[in-house]
Amino acid sequence: MQEVKKPRKPLIYYYIIVLAVLLIFNFLLMPWAAERRVTEVGYDRFIEMTEEEDVGQVEINQEDNEIVFTDKDGSAIYKTGMVEDPDLTRRLYDSGAKFSGQIVEQMSPILSILLSWILPVVIFIAIGQYMSRKLMKKAGGPNSMIFGNGKSNAKVYVKSSEGIRFSDVAGEDEAKENLAEIVDYLHNPGKYREVGAAVPKGILLVGPPGTGKTMLAKAVAGEANVPFFSMSGSEFVEMFVGMGASKVRDLFRQAKEKAPCIVFIDEIDAIGQKRDGRVGGNDEREQTLNQLLTEMDGFETNNGVIILAATNRPESLDPALTRPGRFDRRVPVELPDLKGREEILKVHAKKVKLDETVDFNKIARMASGASGAELANIVNEAALRAVRENRRFVTQADLEESIEVVIAGYQKKNAILTDQEKKVVACHEIGHALVAAKQSNSAPVQKITIVPRTSGALGYTMQVEEGNHYLMSQEELENKIATLTGGRAAEELVFHSASTGASNDIEQATKLARSMITRYGMSKDFDMVAMETVTNQYLGGDSSLSCSMETQTEIDRQVVELVKKQHEKAAKILEENRTKLNELADYLYEKETITGEEFMRILNA
Ligand code: ADP
Repeated sequence: MQEVKKPRKPLIYYYIIVLAVLLIFNFLLMPWAAERRVTEVGYDRFIEMTEEEDVGQVEINQEDNEIVFTDKDGSAIYKTGMVEDPDLTRRLYDSGAKFSGQIVEQMSPILSILLSWILPVVIFIAIGQYMSRKLMKKAGGPNSMIFGNGKSNAKVYVKSSEGIRFSDVAGEDEAKENLAEIVDYLHNPGKYREVGAAVPKGILLVGPPGTGKTMLAKAVAGEANVPFFSMSGSEFVEMFVGMGASKVRDLFRQAKEKAPCIVFIDEIDAIGQKRDGRVGGNDEREQTLNQLLTEMDGFETNNGVIILAATNRPESLDPALTRPGRFDRRVPVELPDLKGREEILKVHAKKVKLDETVDFNKIARMASGASGAELANIVNEAALRAVRENRRFVTQADLEESIEVVIAGYQKKNAILTDQEKKVVACHEIGHALVAAKQSNSAPVQKITIVPRTSGALGYTMQVEEGNHYLMSQEELENKIATLTGGRAAEELVFHSASTGASNDIEQATKLARSMITRYGMSKDFDMVAMETVTNQYLGGDSSLSCSMETQTEIDRQVVELVKKQHEKAAKILEENRTKLNELADYLYEKETITGEEFMRILNA
């Protein structure tokens, strides 16, 4: 798709030109025109004229050091520079000249105010009015306001051969299937009209950031070969109440003209938030939303305008917006699964040169939980790394390193750990890995490193999921907590002290344990009662407690108990394998980075 940009000079541009012209006129041309009527003559000529008694009026201009005078009948005006002349007054008196008033007429004060202040303002307003009327006519209606603020300024993409297609969007098969129907309708609306089927007016794409929602919307337009209007929800919200609503009207007017077409509103939660009637609420946003609701009601079904909208906070949308008849279809665009990740990697890898060692499946397994945008970033980081190292091809190592870059940041080149710190970090990481490996259900270790990263991690253990995971059993979750506590357990075992290195582990372990008790019903006492609800599913998954104070205390107690139990379990595993722990920690301390195979070899030796 190609974006079509409207060449448009802002109105302010015209105003500046007019202002400049007026200023030039006022300050340069007017005095110049006045000057023109005066002839400059020498002092000798002035004396001559006084002697011939051919001088009418005289004005001595001390400030400018000049004498301005007329001839006898006042038909010509002359000017001469002043010369030290004690007889001047006498001479003038003898010649019968009159010392009266100004010769080069200054304008009357009223006229001068009129010309220099009122007139420009009047011209200014007149031109402004003319221009805005002209622009309004061009925009086609009274909706657009002065300065063009009421215009939708949506980006318009027209059909073009290199448009995004469904094949460019990897994975997301369910979403594509859902949207294929829309494409079919846009190709062949008659088929639907015949049966009396109404296609959805609006489709809401929901999912976490970077999963390809925008891409999918563009792909629908690309496949259907229709114009595509794209605008972000936040672009509607203006400083003045009513502007946003006017933009909505303008957008829909344009869309109806271009029908069949697709209107895409990104981040619709910016305008579509629930109207909660709070004091000091956002009037502008509510008006904009009301206008959107009205517009969506206003156009009849099957008129060829399809509205796609994307959001990652569907729960915050106003129910009026999501009711049938408006956005009546919701298409989830979730984080890609293993197969999806592999496909996305392949799509993006087409743009870079690869050597034959690259194993996409392994990369996809390593990057579990990554969104499409992150995967695209991983491929690009790998390509950048290849260039940095003067290679022509991207290798498997590049891709693996770039996963770490995306997850944990770049290697810190100048972070120098003391010897003791390095030993502690090595022991900590081996603690995680060992606990993970010894629990049969934990994912195998892929890599362990104690090279500090810019994210602040001093080292980490990378685990790789073997396949897709949709469900996790209670045992698996418990093992995960045990693995998280393994680092600290190892430190305690070997150094008999705790360090700050475990703060992230503690956070994650607590979160998991809390979810198990409050949301997954994995506590005996609460049975299947939800103590917590997730409020922000796609953005970090914040949750809010919904239980009494006593229950909260009980939850806290159980969380502590659960984590403690797993911590003890981890400590036991490590104690049983104390020699391996020491051996592996020493090995890691020396090598700084070891692979999963090396780890397993030493463990099983
Ligand atoms: P969203 O709108 O969901 O936040 P975008 O559609 O803007 O995400 O995607 C951002 C970028 O991520 C895209 O430009 C593309 O490079 C990449 N991407 C995301 N999902 C996919 C996918 N399923 N297939 C291919 N590329 C993807």
